[in-house]
Amino acid sequence: MVADRQKLTDFLQTCDLSDETTRNIENFITENYVEKEKPKRKPLFSVGEDDDSEVYTSPKVQTEDKGVQCENDADALEFDAGPRSLDEITRDWKECKSVTPGEAIRLLRRGVAKPRELESRFPAELAIPIRRTFINKKFENLPYLGYDYTLASESCCENVIGYTPVPLGVAGPLTLNDVSDIFVPMATTEGALIASTNRGMSVIRAAGGVQVTIIDSGMTRAPVVKFPTARRAVELKLWLDDPMNQTHASRQFQSCSRFAKLKSIDVTVDGNLAYLRFNAFTGDAMGMNMISKSCDQTMRYLLEEFPDMKVLALSGNLCVDKKAAAKNWTEGRGRSVVAECIIKREIVLKTLRTTPEALAYLTTSKLHIGSSRAGAVGGSNAHAANIVAAIFIATGQDAAQVVSSSMCSTRMEVTEESDLYVSCTLPCVEVGTVGGGTILAPQRACLESLECAGPNQETPGRNAERLAEVIAATVLAGELSLMAALTTNDLVSSHMKLNRSKLQLYGGEPGKPTQFQREVEKAGGSIRLETHAKNKLKPLTRDFVQCSNIL
Ligand code: NAP
Repeated sequence: MVADRQKLTDFLQTCDLSDETTRNIENFITENYVEKEKPKRKPLFSVGEDDDSEVYTSPKVQTEDKGVQCENDADALEFDAGPRSLDEITRDWKECKSVTPGEAIRLLRRGVAKPRELESRFPAELAIPIRRTFINKKFENLPYLGYDYTLASESCCENVIGYTPVPLGVAGPLTLNDVSDIFVPMATTEGALIASTNRGMSVIRAAGGVQVTIIDSGMTRAPVVKFPTARRAVELKLWLDDPMNQTHASRQFQSCSRFAKLKSIDVTVDGNLAYLRFNAFTGDAMGMNMISKSCDQTMRYLLEEFPDMKVLALSGNLCVDKKAAAKNWTEGRGRSVVAECIIKREIVLKTLRTTPEALAYLTTSKLHIGSSRAGAVGGSNAHAANIVAAIFIATGQDAAQVVSSSMCSTRMEVTEESDLYVSCTLPCVEVGTVGGGTILAPQRACLESLECAGPNQETPGRNAERLAEVIAATVLAGELSLMAALTTNDLVSSHMKLNRSKLQLYGGEPGKPTQFQREVEKAGGSIRLETHAKNKLKPLTRDFVQCSNIL
């Protein structure tokens, strides 16, 4: 009777009908619908424990094939809605009985099922095409197979629709604190970044290495509380200033973790509000979850002492997490770390093709005066964020924390011996080697390559410190190289060479392949060019094109 039952059911859902009417029509369809015979597919997934008949397939989902594959929406739409009534499948869903992918999509559209629930009912490789179908978007080039979603879905990402591969390169070797075989993994799409960092590292090697020192370590969280009066807020501050009381609070704080060690609680009063900035050592963890849990416990304890206190939020923004703030810049957050290096004049001349004087002058005029005139917070550097972001993504750090983690003061001075002194001071490197994205296998592999994966059993905190040291040293390499490129005006040419595709994309003689086409064909591919409105040839794919990103 009906050619496409799903289409009709979908159409029904767009009509402004009462639930009862919709149900009646659906039941009518169910009773009268004649299923077209479909070719049998090889079953791959069994959904449900006890019903052999409920075996469903998605044409391109093949768990045994671990290669990167994509499934487009057209495939996913082949999920069959099945003959059962909405009431039946709703009941089964609510009772955690098996439903088919097609039925799940109906339930999602009806709001009965939540997209986030899919992984609890289907294997990830099936939950993902169901979710893609539900949101009705094509993700033709977005892979999702061949990835272990167990840890990712558990604690790193919800509503998964696949994963985005980011190119991962390596810069090195880096000589850091007399260890000379460090290769730093960097995940980036900015061509020239790794090449430039490499150049800085070769200068550092020639100079005998970079020395890195940890200045301090402490993660912060600042709940905001409200009192009936400002005087009461001040009383809390005075109470917490008493070392005995801080000891009691500290006991509460540390009861929540084997590694959290409270260093201080600083109170800032604003009218009848008080902000309690907890600062704690968090071992090898970046520590935001750890410290939040401990703060929660301590605030409960403080409520017993100050029953008229109202906790407005566990984070009152004086922490300061993921926002550019002078407080972090001056007081530090996470690991505060300094890297330094003296580079002989001859090396600066030969390798960087500039002079210590030119670098020192540019440091003052660009990094200090320029950043100061711009009102930058923590921005007296050339491009620390580039290096921090690339290592953060490679090693599974919380990428949003690049905000403070890339705050960096870069100094370059001419020494009495006419050599170059360089230092990079990063007061807020918010990194961990346990928890968050560090648990994922690829990110962990990068940490392993740096010999700082997971917890340091002997000296908790040492692994995270090592990662912070590597970041600071790599930032120094990047600063050196970019500043030198700016003094010699090499920046544009190197970006044109490495960051923009050097292939000729457009133009070319009529009837002859462009350089771009020839390169693609050499690589075993092919590309068709169409004539653009302005009579220029335009490629139909942009796969080989990178965008320029000049600093
Ligand atoms: P976490 O994984 O939540 O906590 C670290 C865990 O590792 C704890 O259970 C800790 O034990 C254990 N551990 C084992 N060995 C350790 C060692 N040597 N040093 C430290 N801990 C060790 O990690 P986290 O760093 O606290 O939190 C990271 C996550 O927080 C990230 O996913 C990030 O995106 C997220 N985040 C949260 C907030 C927030 O407001 N909550 C803000 C920003 C980011 P114990 O149980 O004994 O402590």
